[in-house]
Amino acid sequence: MRILFLGAPGAGKGTQCKKLASKYSLAHLSSGDILRDAVKNGTQAGLAAKEFMDKGMLVPDNVLIDLFREKLAQPACSKGFILDGFPRNLAQAESLDGLLSELKANLDKVIDLKTADDLLEERITGRRVCPNKACNAVYHIKFSKPKQDGVCDLCGTELSHRSDDKPELVKQRLSVYHELTSPLIEFYRGKQLLATVNGEGEQEQIFADILATLN
Ligand code: ADP
Repeated sequence: MRILFLGAPGAGKGTQCKKLASKYSLAHLSSGDILRDAVKNGTQAGLAAKEFMDKGMLVPDNVLIDLFREKLAQPACSKGFILDGFPRNLAQAESLDGLLSELKANLDKVIDLKTADDLLEERITGRRVCPNKACNAVYHIKFSKPKQDGVCDLCGTELSHRSDDKPELVKQRLSVYHELTSPLIEFYRGKQLLATVNGEGEQEQIFADILATLN
């Protein structure tokens, strides 16, 4: 199964993609996690990405395309994958078409996780993440609290607040989403791959709705 998720920052893509990846043993390729990892490791891609991420802007297309070309060709993706955060504009979507045809692979479904903007700001600013790369669990100070304040339930690591999850950058990221990423909804509707899922409500219900679109 090869699935792509669309949705604004804070729509819950990461949470749902992790559940889906684990249910079907799919590779979960999160562009944000891949980029943050590259920044942390000081790779060339990371050095190129950092200044854009710090401003809530899109990282240049060629950085993402090179990273995903490499990831998609890895054996971990051969049984299927979930794309989370890539593509994020039309040029990237067209490049992805090219990468997939090189691999003789098609997308099975594109899921648009739809959430009203006023909910997103609160979801993002209250988000806390586990910085342990092997875990990457996501919490929320109000909606999805860890059992012990500030500590990951799964691995015990101290939770952190992403530097771009601050209120001043959230508006910028949302406006980038509406301007550059949301046109992909029509792009994939045109390819008859699109399914829209309501991203508001209980995580379990949202997950059930996602599974229903895949069956
Ligand atoms: P969110 O979806 O909550 O904004 P991500 O973790 O997906 O968070 O992305 C964080 C940042 O990484 C983005 O603001 C952007 O700078 C960069 N980024 C992620 N994916 C892409 C992409 N496909 N193209 C360009 N930049 C990207």
